Formats: sequence, C-alpha cells, structure tokens
Amino acid sequence: MNIFEQVESDVRTYSRSFPVVFNKAKGASLFTEDGKEYIDFLAGAGTLNYGHNHPALQKALVDYVLADGITHGLDMYSTAKREFLDTFHEIILKPRGMDKFRVQFTGPTGTNAVEAALKLARKVTGRSEIVSFTNGFHGVSGGALACTGNEHHRGGMGSSLSDVTRMPFDGYLGEGVDTTEYLDKVLSDPSSGVDHPAAVIVETIQGEGGLNAASFEWLRNLEKVCRKHDMLLIVDDIQSGCGRSGYFFSFEKVGIKPDIITLSKSLSGYGLPFALTIFREELDQWAPGEHNGTFRGNNHAFVTAATAFKTFWKDDTFAAEVRRKAEKLRAGLGSLINKHGKGSMILKGRGLMSGIECPNGDLADRVTSIAFEKGLIIETSGAHSQVVKCLVPLVITDKQIEFGLRVLDESFAQALAEKNSKAS
Ligand SMILES: *Cc1c(COP(=O)(O)O)cnc(C)c1O
Repeated sequence: MNIFEQVESDVRTYSRSFPVVFNKAKGASLFTEDGKEYIDFLAGAGTLNYGHNHPALQKALVDYVLADGITHGLDMYSTAKREFLDTFHEIILKPRGMDKFRVQFTGPTGTNAVEAALKLARKVTGRSEIVSFTNGFHGVSGGALACTGNEHHRGGMGSSLSDVTRMPFDGYLGEGVDTTEYLDKVLSDPSSGVDHPAAVIVETIQGEGGLNAASFEWLRNLEKVCRKHDMLLIVDDIQSGCGRSGYFFSFEKVGIKPDIITLSKSLSGYGLPFALTIFREELDQWAPGEHNGTFRGNNHAFVTAATAFKTFWKDDTFAAEVRRKAEKLRAGLGSLINKHGKGSMILKGRGLMSGIECPNGDLADRVTSIAFEKGLIIETSGAHSQVVKCLVPLVITDKQIEFGLRVLDESFAQALAEKNSKAS
C-alpha cells in the first residue's frame, strides 16, 4: 500500500480517478514523477484558467516572495492588497459599471465566500429563507451545503440542512417551461407555504450539477422576480467567473445586475486559495469584524490576481480568444455527438465550460477512464455523473484542444465498442 492510501482519509476523490503521482505542470500540461505528460481538461476544477505556472504570474510571485513581501497579514493593509484592490477596481469593476461594489475578503475557499454572501443577505433583509436551485452546487459547509442539491454531499452533513427553499432550475421541467413563473407564483400566494426569502442564489452555468447553462431570458426573468418580491440576487460565479464563460463575469452579457457575487477558484489565477464576496455598497452593513477569519485575503494571491488582471483583462483580446476557442471546442464536441451518440447525447454548457451529456453515468465514467489511459485528465459532473466535462485552461492551445478531442473520439469509440460486445 502506498503512503497516500495508508495515511490519507478515504474522503479523497480525484486521486482515485487519476491514480498517478504528479510532479510538474505548465500551461495545460501535467507531468507525473515518471515524466509522463497529461493534457489537463480539468484545470483544478476551474481553478487554473490561466494554466499551470503561467510565467507572468510565476515571476510576479517569486519576485514578491524573494523581496520579503508580506505573506500573512490578517486583514491589515499591505501594498499587495492595495495593488489588488486598485487593479480589480480599475480593470474589472469600473468598465463593467460596478465601481460602487464593495469587496469583502472572506476565508480562502469558495464555500467561505458563499457563507459570507448568505449571511450578509440574511442580516440585511432580516429574513432567513434562501432560494437555491435543483442541481446547484455552492459548497459543503453547513449554510452553503443547505443550498447544494447533491444527495451525496448533503448526506455528509449528518444534521438537518434548513432555511433553503429549492426551486427548479432553467430547463428542469423541460423546454418551454419557464420555472421562474413558478417561483413568482408561490411568492405571490400568501398560502403557498413558501416563506418570503432573503435572497436567491444561482449559478448562471451549473458546474458540478452537469453544465446546465441557464438561458439569458430565464436569468432576466429571475432578476425580475427578485425585484418584484424584494429579494437579493446572489450570483455564485466561483466556477463560471474569471473568464470561463468568455467574459470576466458569466452574467456580463445577460444584462442582469446581481446584488451579491461570489468569486474564488480562478480568482488568484495561480491556483492559490483566494475568495471574495462583492456586493452593492448599500448592502455593506457589516460591523467591523462581525464576520472574520484568520486567512482573509491571501497576499500571495493578491500578487498573482493583480498580475492576471493586468495581463489578461485590460482589453477584450484574451476574452475574445476564449470565445473563439470555446467555439472550436464546442464544434468538436458537436461532431463527436453526431458520430457517437446522435439523438442520445447532448452538448452542454457555455463557453469553455462545455461537455457532452451521455445517456448514463457508466458510459461517461468509462470514457473518462479510457481518456486518462490515453493521456487526458478529464472528469464527469451531473446528478448521475453522466456529463463528460471539458474544463480546459483558458490558455490552452488549439493543438491541445485537438488532442483532447481526438482522445475523446477514441475513448467514446472504445467505450461504446466494449458495451456492444458485452451486450451481444
Ligand atoms: C467549487 C464551487 C464552490 C465551492 O468552492 P470551494 O473552494 O470548494 O469551497 C461554490 N460554488 C461553486 C459554483 C463552485 O463551483
């Protein structure tokens, strides 16, 4: 038995799908200690939008560390924090009409940002109920987990998960049903049994839930329902943000104005733990230290995040490239569907958060296992793990996309051939 299996808790997961020992990584490539290369279609579950060890970020970080820059400073002022706030404000918020947003440094995980968002919404409105959606994923601590749909994760809690009203996400009841009408209906009916919520929390593109992309129209209708019933709109952009959709924020082209937004995963740009909850300034009703944490604001992440904003987000060039690559990837996935599962497989997601929904989880699981043998790191998502999920680094090259698509083509062919030979 190796040291990992001997000592590390059974709670480990990704190492079971990819049972090798990684040693180095660059861009969209991961290398094992034996030197075998894998192309990374997982990207730290969306944490490595700019790839592994991006040279500009790496240099900024190394220079900062070697110059004895602050590593930990609670939430005290530091030059790194100043630079982060400056660049975030100037490059990200201002051009998007969000210069009045306040920035809260939460603990370093996405879950921490979600907990802060929920707590603030409840505090500001004085109401406890939160609306979240079927197949949503918002984290695994108590408050966030109550909003999470996944049975497996909810089961890990061992106590009740309360104060959340679950509503059907876009498309949950089939095409042609606008589920925001149901939300509006129950909130308009004083005897529906649904208490007046503080807020609605939503992913515009559900990541863990199976790459379900809400239509722009549904999101706009959801915002209308929030305004009509005086509820705050929280967009959890932890996975779909930082460029993944082809725009910095996933809701940018939708035309909605969320009240609270959570960001984490690719925010540091370098895979460092870092999370933010941002909100309209009127909502900033926290008393000093009322919500805190020892690791609020990670100075190393400040450095890499600020560098990422300056490197990638000063104009639309990078985002336009992301959109071009997304079209290429999605066209390739579309061809695979036509070839291997016309009528039974579905193209899911949006931007570089796209994938193939298989008829069942067994097929998706087999495809990703075969792909791993062929040098591709790729995972599944969805209620039945039935979606083969391409979460490529945004800096991936066209060649690497082509490699991934070729591997997926071969993997689908092999998995389906195995299935047919078993059936006969
Ligand atoms: C990953 C994720 C989270 C939780 O982030 P952690 O860093 O794992 O706590 C929350 N919301 C969404 C949409 C996520 O994808």
